[in-house]
Amino acid sequence: MIYLDNAATTKMCEEALKEYEYFSCSNFYNPSAIYLPAIKVGVALDEARARLKKCLGAKKGDIIFTSGATESNNLAIRGSQREGKWEYVFSSGEHASVYNLANALKQEGKTVHFVPLNKGGEIDYEALEKLLTPKTRVVSVMFVNNVTGVINDIKRISQIVRQNAPSAILHVDGVQAFCKLKFSLDELDVDLFSLSAHKFHGPKGAGALYVKNKAALKNLVFGGGQEYGIRSGTENVPAIMGMVKAAEVIDVGANFEKVKCLKAAFLQELCGDEKIKFVGENASPYIAMMLFEGVNGETLTRALEEKVIVGRGSACSAKKAGNHVLSAMGFNLGQIKGAIRVSFDASLTMEQVVEAAKIIKTTYLQLLEKLK
Ligand code: PMP
Repeated sequence: MIYLDNAATTKMCEEALKEYEYFSCSNFYNPSAIYLPAIKVGVALDEARARLKKCLGAKKGDIIFTSGATESNNLAIRGSQREGKWEYVFSSGEHASVYNLANALKQEGKTVHFVPLNKGGEIDYEALEKLLTPKTRVVSVMFVNNVTGVINDIKRISQIVRQNAPSAILHVDGVQAFCKLKFSLDELDVDLFSLSAHKFHGPKGAGALYVKNKAALKNLVFGGGQEYGIRSGTENVPAIMGMVKAAEVIDVGANFEKVKCLKAAFLQELCGDEKIKFVGENASPYIAMMLFEGVNGETLTRALEEKVIVGRGSACSAKKAGNHVLSAMGFNLGQIKGAIRVSFDASLTMEQVVEAAKIIKTTYLQLLEKLK
């Protein structure tokens, strides 16, 4: 079986697993306790913040450990929310953890703007500029789209936000970018950045929110005051330490080059059939979104699963009909029905991706034949 759903989750690496075990069994103490072994765990946790900041290219700011990016995204946006006539701006392509929250804010009576996507799948930069005002409180735009792999120009976005919305907090969901693209948070100039461990060979149930100025972020839960009082609750130390180790052992540059070649070979094998449409421009090499004409993507996914595992666009919303990202790019429901997302990992071989592409093509053609 060839696993091509690495944007949904990845296998934990050995190094992370070792770290997870060590901080679960040998060094299991509560980092908030006051005896020496526990204090040492607390020190290791604080060192892990500094190590993660280094991976992010951030000299300024702090790290708040969370249970994953869904929590990080909610904390970023809700924690930056303020009373009064503030406005909130989101791209139309956001992950459910941002998109559904944006809709909830709207329901609560807040002024919420959704910025359209262009045909290629990037945020419409001109439309973003027009929607910003001195009253904008939060702007939330993802780095790499989890459905299409399309990369937004975060530097350009931060410049637009700084120029047009001086009071705005810029949040970036960086889940599909961190440990995959090379960047420096200081250079990108963002205020808040979410990441999730299980997308880069770390454990599930761990994530982080990078915060440039933690004084501006409010806590959502009340408790013992862990994580600077912003995210109370005993930290999931094994998962956090595993996450940071996973981030450190990844060779982002080398993996990028390898995955670029894997994706090119995969696309090469599938191109030429006009019934298969590739979606998105300027996409990450880690993700390829395709629309298969005339079949249901779910049926195709199930027909493939013994040989090749693929995704539908977002594992979190896989069971829902439609897809708001593809709709925002102008595709109709009929086209979206045939959506399949494949997502790569540097551990794959060229032979595997070429074989997977061949299997996908024959299975698709067999299904089409059956449906005639
Ligand atoms: N944002 C993006 C872009 C994602 O791809 C995901 C995972 N599907 C999340 C947020 C949610 O991450 P988690 O699974 O850690 O809650």
